[in-house]
Amino acid sequence: MRSASTRFSARLAATLFTTLALAVVVAALWGLTWWALGVALGGQTIGLLWLVFGSRARDRRPREAWLRSRTRRMRQHRLTAQLRDVRNVVGSLPDAVMLLDRRGNVRWHNAAATRLLGLHLRHTDGPLAERLVGSELGAWLLTDMRQPATDMPAPADASLRLGVTIMPFGAHLRLLLARDISTLSRLEQVRRDFVANVSHELRTPLTVIHGYLELLDPADMPGLAPVLGEMRLQSQRMTQIVEDLLTLSRLETGEALPDEDVAMPALLETLRREAEALSQGRHAISVELDTQAHLRGSIHDLRSAFSNLVSNAVRYTPSGGEIAIGWRQTAGGGAAFSVRDSGLGISAEHLGRLTERFYRVSSSRSRESGGTGLGLSIVKHVLNLHQARLVVESEPGQGSTFSCVLESSRVTQPEDDEKSGVDTPAS
Ligand code: ADP
Repeated sequence: MRSASTRFSARLAATLFTTLALAVVVAALWGLTWWALGVALGGQTIGLLWLVFGSRARDRRPREAWLRSRTRRMRQHRLTAQLRDVRNVVGSLPDAVMLLDRRGNVRWHNAAATRLLGLHLRHTDGPLAERLVGSELGAWLLTDMRQPATDMPAPADASLRLGVTIMPFGAHLRLLLARDISTLSRLEQVRRDFVANVSHELRTPLTVIHGYLELLDPADMPGLAPVLGEMRLQSQRMTQIVEDLLTLSRLETGEALPDEDVAMPALLETLRREAEALSQGRHAISVELDTQAHLRGSIHDLRSAFSNLVSNAVRYTPSGGEIAIGWRQTAGGGAAFSVRDSGLGISAEHLGRLTERFYRVSSSRSRESGGTGLGLSIVKHVLNLHQARLVVESEPGQGSTFSCVLESSRVTQPEDDEKSGVDTPAS
């Protein structure tokens, strides 16, 4: 490219010099010697300047273009290599990665998706949910996927367990990630079985000890009366801990709960009576009923969860305090059960950990009040099984509000039940 432009410049210069030489000869022949000399000198100067600067400028242009295109080509190579690397990395991940379009069709997936979900690249037509029909994952994809799929069997191999997440990707795509959590799931099962077995094994000896302690009358041995009292208290606590652990084990198995009608207005009245019995007149207890809505779920478990919150409010509110048990409609057709107290309150750093097993804001405070440290953990599990969540608002010294927020799918209006002929048992 460079030599072509040089040849072009040389040809132009030769033409210019020839023209100038001719002009000088003609002017000299006509007797215009000074004119001829002037034209020759001027022409030479212009020619030389043009040759020097013009050719340089012309030479630079193609060189710049060549450099630009070379840089562009190199960048393209680099990007292609990077893209290939990323694709290879994602392709060889042990987790299934899948790109879905807005209709749920698979646009791309890696090799692990074939192994875990049984998908093959040559069969990428049709929405994923349809291609996985009959599997738990397929059923989950047909829901609104708001509930996380933390543990489900792999469609391609039921002995493998998957944790599935789906997230937006770009403007219209979604990214589905399925992790093989089989090992984790097995370890979790071992832990669950261990806790359930230990609790079960402890139940019988504790019942025997408790029974014998009940037989001993402190009046027969006044010297040992305080010791006997303490032994009874501790054996009761141990029995309660074992019962709570067994309840947690049962809830953790994730077995389907009964779909019963829970008449909330009646249940709130029962909870108020329970609270009054526990409080022994030390608190002002009220019910704030803003809706007559009912709930669908397990009567036994929901009652146990709500009762836990009420008992906590009584135990952690000093005498003279107020406790309000509420049931109200929320936006979008859902509802919330809440227990508000004017008690001790909880500082912010503890709020995120309250539902952990045996987590206590203050061990002495919990033990004094007869707590096992498992109450809120049970509440969380019961709510999870009802697709509900626990919201805690609290400030030290100002009191706390524990709210169980339930989705519209769990809330029914009494007139709906009458129409559908469902019985409303008294709580
Ligand atoms: P516990 O059996 O010890 O009460 P929970 O799981 O029910 O266990 O509660 C965990 C901890 O949360 C309690 O130890 C207590 O410190 C705190 N807590 C629960 N409810 C309240 C409340 N209404 N007011 C103040 N603290 C509370």
